[in-house]
Amino acid sequence: MSISFALTSGLAISRYDSMEQAFLQFLANQKQTLPTDGLGIGDDAAVLAWPADSKLVVCTDLISDETDFHLAEVTPQQIGRKALAINLSDIAAMACQPVGALLTLLLPGGEASLELAQGIYQGAAKLGEQFNCPIIGGDTNSWPGKVAVSITVLGRCPFAKPLLRQGAQPGDAIFVTGSLGGSILGHHLDFIPRVDEALALTQTCGLTAGMDISDGISIDLPRLCKQSSVGAEIDVRQLPLTAAAQQLSQKSGKPVWWHGLNDGEDFELLFTVPAADADQLLAQWTNATPITRIGTIRPERELTMLGDDGTRQPLLPEGFSH
Ligand SMILES: [Mg+2]
Repeated sequence: MSISFALTSGLAISRYDSMEQAFLQFLANQKQTLPTDGLGIGDDAAVLAWPADSKLVVCTDLISDETDFHLAEVTPQQIGRKALAINLSDIAAMACQPVGALLTLLLPGGEASLELAQGIYQGAAKLGEQFNCPIIGGDTNSWPGKVAVSITVLGRCPFAKPLLRQGAQPGDAIFVTGSLGGSILGHHLDFIPRVDEALALTQTCGLTAGMDISDGISIDLPRLCKQSSVGAEIDVRQLPLTAAAQQLSQKSGKPVWWHGLNDGEDFELLFTVPAADADQLLAQWTNATPITRIGTIRPERELTMLGDDGTRQPLLPEGFSH
């Protein structure tokens, strides 16, 4: 099928025009499966058919060289994959189904730009294919700065309403998917957005609130609590921890659980379920991605943790900030 990719008109620098034409030519040759009634190449905007009874959910994220990755240390494909994956993680956080993505590239000029653009596209498109989320459009331009990639994902809410950060009730059990910590050692580039898990969880039981963990639990859990007007207590002994968190702990001298609480970019789901449903959820959950109960929502609007010696302490927001 085909792709609607906007041509930058008027402002394009002539040196860049040939690169952009070459990139558009490259895009025209890519195979993408568009949803039924998707609009073909060459038009000014992409068109999607939309079921009348479902809500549209939209998110966008921008990543750039030196802030979110180092161009010298990653492949263009990894950049494109990550730019889409962080958006798919946000769609998952809402328990929604991705439908299509818009990819916008700001490229440093010069010879290598075409290869960079193609690689970024390929990385995003490959992940998009796994999640039925084709690249349906976008734009490119060049500037005298570093590469930046912005992706916008359109999603469909298959349920009566999306999962929100608000809705957690005192007594609710707090869960996470997967395991936490140490993503800087590589997982931030190859994590799998928890789209399937979020949809399966929502079908299995009534989640009261949820979000994805992008900055670390110590920063993200307070955000959920604030939206729900509640507090929470985490038991650090229950945190599911990665081998990478162990590795980092040996270098940093900090406890492994500290990395599980505070390292950013896990992109796991953080969600709450009524206490009465927690055991049943654990018993029924057969998905390959584990879920772990890590704490409880509390009525007092404060964040606490039970440390590794079982003593109650304040949960401090020491998480990763972009
Ligand atoms: Mg998020």
